[in-house]
Amino acid sequence: MSTTLNLISEYQHEKVLFVNNEKAGLHAILALHNTNLGPAIGGCRLYPYAGLDAALFDVLRLSRGMSHKNAAAGLPCGGAKGVIIASPAQKTPALFEAFGEAVETLGGKYYTAEDVNTTTEDMNQVLHTTQYVVGRDTVSGDPSPVTAYGVFCGIRAIANRLNGTDDLHGVKIALQGLGHVGFDLAHRLYEAGADLTVSTHSNRANMEVAVKEWGAKEVTDEELYRTECDILSPCALGATLNYDTIPNLKCRAVAGAANNQLLDDECGQALRDRGILYAPDFVINGGGVINAAQEVFTTYNRENVLKQVAGIYDTISWIVERSGTTGVPEGIIAREFAESRIYGTPCRFR
Ligand code: NAD
Repeated sequence: MSTTLNLISEYQHEKVLFVNNEKAGLHAILALHNTNLGPAIGGCRLYPYAGLDAALFDVLRLSRGMSHKNAAAGLPCGGAKGVIIASPAQKTPALFEAFGEAVETLGGKYYTAEDVNTTTEDMNQVLHTTQYVVGRDTVSGDPSPVTAYGVFCGIRAIANRLNGTDDLHGVKIALQGLGHVGFDLAHRLYEAGADLTVSTHSNRANMEVAVKEWGAKEVTDEELYRTECDILSPCALGATLNYDTIPNLKCRAVAGAANNQLLDDECGQALRDRGILYAPDFVINGGGVINAAQEVFTTYNRENVLKQVAGIYDTISWIVERSGTTGVPEGIIAREFAESRIYGTPCRFR
């Protein structure tokens, strides 16, 4: 069996659906990882994968990640993901309608949403053929500000662990990526009195605001990793905590929005070995999915969503505290906690 096929068994996926619709030009994979806790939620990613194996590998990993994220957020939801093998230039309404038909065949076990290279406008096309879509622009809307709020709560929990107070006045934070989440987060941090150092690739207008209005210091990406600070906040790409960056970090903790920040589990251990606290990404960035999930279960209410998202403070506090007393990296504790909810197994850390 290929490594990728092995993952289907190892990750225990409930169902993996390969979809081919020649007329619409759709080549897609829907991976339903687990629905023990309830209907699965996970975005629809569109990407010009090099081949079927690459797409399958990605969708298997991402769907399991959604099970962990949703479980850690305390949601009554499972995890799934869809990938469409195409470039953004190949997007058509027919492509998304055909994707919706595939989602519909799962009969409500999978709710899709926007993701990398897909937009709420694309999801409006998906809605022509299935009702199982969340993050609708007319209901919960752009998840980014809610994600940023959750990360802000998580950062305060980390500051509390570092300094014995969650007051952010004078706390030095180095933030990477002034995009949808990073810009909103930087604003909140500025208002809370943090001392900001920032890097970004695009979004020059956001950088101007950060520097001129919030007194942030602009640095290059290279410099950001070496910035002496209390908290490094990756809000751009995945795998930024790796064998090149970790030895050079001059922070006391890492807490940011980006997905899949650790290159692998050993990097979680490497952070611990250097005495750097880590807020597991799939816990601290759960605000967006908490926001979208409300559409499935109840009438959307922003105030209730924000109350639930504020709970990220307690979850992060608990994880770093347990990591401190057991010596087990935070990411492992978070995963075991999520899996204990999914599979009803005991959690060694509870
Ligand atoms: P975005 O595309 O709006 O912003 C990303 C920003 O990162 C851009 O400003 C880009 O210029 C910058 N960037 C890219 N590479 C960089 C680099 N090497 N150095 C510095 N800056 C760099 O994306 P977003 O929606 O803000 O999401 C940010 C991260 O958070 C992503 O990893 C995403 O998967 C994750 N996330 C987002 C949400 C959400 O609600 N949007 C939810 C959960 C997780």
